[in-house]
Amino acid sequence: MQYPEWIWHNGGIKPWAEATTHVMSHGLHYGSSVFEGIRAYATPGGSAIFRLQDHTRRLFASARIYDMAIPYTPEELDAACHEVVRRNELRQAYLRPVAWRGLGGFGLSAETPIDVAVASWHMGPYLGEGALTEGIDACVSSWQRFAPNTIPAGAKAGGNYLSGQLVAREARRLGFGEGIALASTGLLSEGAGENLFLVFDGALHTTPVSAALLNGITRDSIIRLARDAGIAVVERDLPREYLYLCDELFMCGTAAEITPIRSVDGRQVGAGRAGPVTLRLQELFFGLFDGRTPDRHGWLEPLRG
Ligand code: PMP
Repeated sequence: MQYPEWIWHNGGIKPWAEATTHVMSHGLHYGSSVFEGIRAYATPGGSAIFRLQDHTRRLFASARIYDMAIPYTPEELDAACHEVVRRNELRQAYLRPVAWRGLGGFGLSAETPIDVAVASWHMGPYLGEGALTEGIDACVSSWQRFAPNTIPAGAKAGGNYLSGQLVAREARRLGFGEGIALASTGLLSEGAGENLFLVFDGALHTTPVSAALLNGITRDSIIRLARDAGIAVVERDLPREYLYLCDELFMCGTAAEITPIRSVDGRQVGAGRAGPVTLRLQELFFGLFDGRTPDRHGWLEPLRG
């Protein structure tokens, strides 16, 4: 990875190399961090950040679950996001706001200061070149997601990604593009870092937030784009075998965008390539950024100059 020049850290922009933290920071030992992943796209009207305020709202919600008082306002962090893209002269970017328990005492319940950084860098397709068009081969992981009332799946917290790492690394080790996890109920949950959509008879089916998943902002965008276009969307519990029976299957997330899945556990899904509903949703979603889809929900925030 080629590092960008600038990063925002604890209140201001500084050179990338100077944004350091102490090795005894609470977040490093106990996973006590909350973060976001956001994309900025190059649109015909200039660069724009996608659903920034919704991401910032989720960052504060994640922090609230863990009693972390982020010492900045949402408006200050939004401004930091704009500034770090602009200063790095990025037209297209992935943004990573992160807040963590810093240095200030030992022990799980220590009241430490909360450190905050916002990084931004250029990022292409997350699941590899060609993933968006050709699709990926996925597998059901041998690892389950955490059970309800253990670790809250609805928080985007650093510690949750120990689960995601087990799922993703197992999948890659076995030669798959990504892993899909079941919830502790045995029902479908989500991908290592992506939500899931299955298509049956032209309708979209997605797993509910009660299935140990992160309530993705891309998931929400897809639900709204689909409904705007007259495509039915159902949120429901789904058993594993529906992965093998559906007409189409895709993953979505800020990083993964809309990635078709052409096989699961070595079984071909549908025709083994992106089907018509997936293609239509890709067209609607990516159309937001090239101007083909009107931004009727006000999701694009032009980069501040
Ligand atoms: N689930 C998990 C576990 C994730 O890490 C992500 C990526 N943030 C998603 C789903 C998708 O969420 P979003 O669309 O908000 O990026």
